[in-house]
Amino acid sequence: MLRNVQNPKQQFTNHLAWTSDDPIGLEVDRAAGSYIYLKDGRRIIDLISGIAVSSLGHGHPRVVEAIKRQVDKHLHVMVYGEFIQGPQVRLAEALSNVLPDGLDSVYFTMTGTEANEGALKLAKKATGRSHMVSFENSYHGDSHGSLSVTGRQVYREPFLPLLPDVTFLPFNDISALSAIDETVACVITEPIQGEGGIIVPSVEWHKALRARCTEVGALLIFDEIQTGFGRTGSMFACEQFGVTPDIITLAKAMGGGMPLGAFVSSRTIMGTLRTNPPLSHVTTFGGHPVSCAAALATLEVLRQEALPARALQIESQIRDTLKHPSVREIRGRGAMLGMDLRDADLTAKVVATCLENGVLLGWTLHSNSLVRIAPPLNIEEDVLNMALRVILMALKEHSK
Ligand code: PLP
Repeated sequence: MLRNVQNPKQQFTNHLAWTSDDPIGLEVDRAAGSYIYLKDGRRIIDLISGIAVSSLGHGHPRVVEAIKRQVDKHLHVMVYGEFIQGPQVRLAEALSNVLPDGLDSVYFTMTGTEANEGALKLAKKATGRSHMVSFENSYHGDSHGSLSVTGRQVYREPFLPLLPDVTFLPFNDISALSAIDETVACVITEPIQGEGGIIVPSVEWHKALRARCTEVGALLIFDEIQTGFGRTGSMFACEQFGVTPDIITLAKAMGGGMPLGAFVSSRTIMGTLRTNPPLSHVTTFGGHPVSCAAALATLEVLRQEALPARALQIESQIRDTLKHPSVREIRGRGAMLGMDLRDADLTAKVVATCLENGVLLGWTLHSNSLVRIAPPLNIEEDVLNMALRVILMALKEHSK
């Protein structure tokens, strides 16, 4: 029998790999709805949803119920793609029904970065080309392939050399798109940059990008890992720009709190992974049946409760309330917003004070002067109001 001798804080310090020198280190007891309950008895309002994951709040009863039902039936039975598993095939059909036409062949993964890895490989296989284009300031994940197309040198530098043949273009710049030519297998972009600082490009740029990719035969990959599943006010952000990609990648909110990702394309493009050689892209745990059951319930709740539309109400409530001279700009769409303070010190102080007063916020990976606001899509109006008042108080306290 394994016996623990250290308390959780010691275990966290001594045995858990840290990702920075100053983790938040809150000790979680449980989480429900928009609240996370801590071991020290405090509860905090979650305004970042585990970074755009808990769109239905924590532990939504329908998701938990679906998980329990599936756990009682079966867990993992076979590597991905060999057996017909109810939750997987039902979810694949349901996704095909909510995604834009033509995106109807689903390859499930476990995480977002793995979905992007699959998408990049698929694009190479389907086009027979190797050159990839991405955008400055983008974030696509931390495994080698995804990092290779992530447009921030400081994160790439320690791991060079990465994949060769990647070109970064300025984001939202139509004139730069002429660099996409017949050598390009794929262009990968977030429809709205998340970690780059919540940057919304123009409809014209999106249309020009789509047109250029079609013209030269490059596949357009939309990374909707953060923007997907209603967060920006429509089920997928691409709908708002009137553009359909050739491949879309999904994760985060998809699993309702369970690990799940996917890359989705047409049957013709996806078919290229089947042969030469067969099994040219496989995964053991992709599309785990419990995660798929959770995702199916999540998708149903998102649609039945019209949560993409609710994201737009959240946006109005936040924009109307957070009016303060230190707030230079609120960027983003729906419930994927960034409050730009253009001051890293002020941002750190506001985030810290909000946490002391029971509101969890954060910043984005590539920007330390922007406060990320991404609440659950079903956060109650009065709870959101309470949280916004805490933010306003913190802004008042720390603004010069
Ligand atoms: N792509 C985007 C746009 C993301 O925001 C993220 C994570 O933040 C990823 C990919 C990576 O997803 P994961 O952390 O599940 O690998």
